[in-house]
Amino acid sequence: MGEKELNIEQEGLGFATMGGAPESKDLQHNVGPENNSRKEKRWSLADFDIGKPLGRGKFGNVYLARERESKYVVALKVLFKNQLQQSQVEHQLRREIEIQSHLRHPNILRLYGYFYDQTRVYLILEYAAKGELYKELQRCRVFSEKRAATYIASLARALMYCHEKHVIHRDIKPENLLIGSKGELKIADFGWSVHTSSRRRTLCGTLDYLPPEMVEGKEHDAGVDVWSLGILCFEFLFGTPPFEAKKHSDTYKRIVRVDLRFPSKPVISAAAKDLICQLLVKDSSQRLPLQKVVSHPWIVNNADASGIYSHAS
Ligand code: AMP
Repeated sequence: MGEKELNIEQEGLGFATMGGAPESKDLQHNVGPENNSRKEKRWSLADFDIGKPLGRGKFGNVYLARERESKYVVALKVLFKNQLQQSQVEHQLRREIEIQSHLRHPNILRLYGYFYDQTRVYLILEYAAKGELYKELQRCRVFSEKRAATYIASLARALMYCHEKHVIHRDIKPENLLIGSKGELKIADFGWSVHTSSRRRTLCGTLDYLPPEMVEGKEHDAGVDVWSLGILCFEFLFGTPPFEAKKHSDTYKRIVRVDLRFPSKPVISAAAKDLICQLLVKDSSQRLPLQKVVSHPWIVNNADASGIYSHAS
């Protein structure tokens, strides 16, 4: 292994239509820890047919790929070791692999496994057929209350699952959310997540989504993810994050003051605003617990119970 280059020019690799339940089981059995007989399986590039590029990331590219034996379609993330080393993020990647590979939730992108060669590290990821939520939000500018509530409910359930396992994501934002083939939301990118039961002090993430305790460099806990849920809910409904400002220093000040102002347009229900106000609370212990987010009237009255947003709904 190692000699075979990624051949993205290969013909006939329109895998997008190949995903489906039977293959899904196969791959999970083949690569998942569920199957003892294949537990020791070492993956290599030779096990995959490589298809079209899906996107470009900071440390490499993501390709559509199909595992040859099971025909299961995945997304193969290719990271260059030298770039990882230069940016000193090997530790972060190890943590991301360790955490994400152990999580099993319909709204969390599966990491089936990984392998490497001399120059690259490959992550075998669940394929999110409908791509980035960020692009969808850019295309639509804002989401309807039904769509926003469906996503927020899915996120709240996925975060509840993470927090039960003492995993804090810490970097929930539209760029880290993907959409599956049925329109279901998937949390991706656990690069900044931590497995912890204690309170943390590292500054990470993008300023707009950070809670007051993190921008101020104070200790933080799972409440950071609850705050980011409030930011996302606002952004889904109004098209921009609530504390956006031209200068970083002004965003910083607005976050610390919780300078929350609702634009007059689009017209949004009082129930949606109520939920946002209960999530964007300075004192992290006073933020609405995730269990109460899913039973909030706005969620109950608007979210699709299946967690799937389709244009028909
Ligand atoms: P990343 O390096 O994770 O930022 O990925 C770069 C881009 O590749 C993303 O912005 C997505 O457009 C695409 N991508 C990454 N992972 C997947 C996936 N599992 N399924 C579909 N597209 C993906």
